[in-house]
Amino acid sequence: MEGKLETPFQMENTKVWIAGHRGLVGGAIAKRLSRENCTIVTIDRDELDLRDQVGVKKWLEKEKPSIIILAAAKVGGIVANSTQPADFLYDNLVIETNIIKAAHEIEVKKLLFLGSSCIYPRDAKQPMVEEELLTGPLEKTNESYAIAKIAGLKMCEAFRTQYGCDFISAQPTNLYGEGDKFDPEMGHVIPALMVKAHKGKLNNYSKLNVWGSGTPKREFLYIHDLADALVHLLKNYSGKSHINIGTGEEFSIKQLAEKICDVVGFQGELVFDTTKPDGSPRKLVNNSRLAELGWNSKTSLDEGLAKTYKWYLDNVS
Ligand code: GDP
Repeated sequence: MEGKLETPFQMENTKVWIAGHRGLVGGAIAKRLSRENCTIVTIDRDELDLRDQVGVKKWLEKEKPSIIILAAAKVGGIVANSTQPADFLYDNLVIETNIIKAAHEIEVKKLLFLGSSCIYPRDAKQPMVEEELLTGPLEKTNESYAIAKIAGLKMCEAFRTQYGCDFISAQPTNLYGEGDKFDPEMGHVIPALMVKAHKGKLNNYSKLNVWGSGTPKREFLYIHDLADALVHLLKNYSGKSHINIGTGEEFSIKQLAEKICDVVGFQGELVFDTTKPDGSPRKLVNNSRLAELGWNSKTSLDEGLAKTYKWYLDNVS
């Protein structure tokens, strides 16, 4: 397979910058990297705005990490994406261009860029192989985010082609887990439904409001599985193509809502609010390349939801 390393890339004694360490992805990567013999560097948002090109370059010149994990992004659920298209496009484009360009200038050894399965056309053949990229129109509800992420992965490809940079990109499916944004309006479906079901249980509500028809299907990857996959990619992959990361399993939103009610212990009835958007009908990624590199996901949705709810109870509610 193109890009599969015969000798693993050495992470020992390297300095790794996790851009976006406070987010869902960045937090899980920090935890996973604590098992590697490397030094993690981070910088908080109030000290460095990643949209500031000069500031990013100066910080990188001072820190000189040898590896960058680019997990910083403006993210949100279907309503956040569709109501703030300018911010999703601008912030994400600027963050990634600033970091990728400066990474080349300070000659980092490796950069890993994080995208999302929404980069694929709305009607892409399922499960979606990497070659489905740019074969058709995007899903409208997250078009801005997808365009920014496509630009980011193409930028990694372009810097590899033109300058020989070891920049790779991973496109994970829908993510969830500890550290997610538990916001019923702006969050993704899992944390949003968890909060609503939890509040419903506490207040003895008889109904749970589920957006859309309940028929769209999604593939959900537990965040600590993702972090493990990313470290695996860093060590074992150095190729031009982006790499999908998923579980191979999909659930309808109705099935998901039922599972969340079980985990939370909410007994009410599901009510589908069809004034809210469904988004893509399906977004299942083909994982063959990652499997060929020797990685498969481990955590079932039931197990991941139980761990996520426990974290929510201990840290948020
Ligand atoms: P998407 O994968 O980009 O569409 O991201 P989301 O996680 O926001 O939504 C996934 C699906 O869950 C969509 O079909 C939503 O309409 C549906 N959904 C059902 N209830 C909710 C909810 O309370 N919040 C969100 N964000 N989505 C919901």
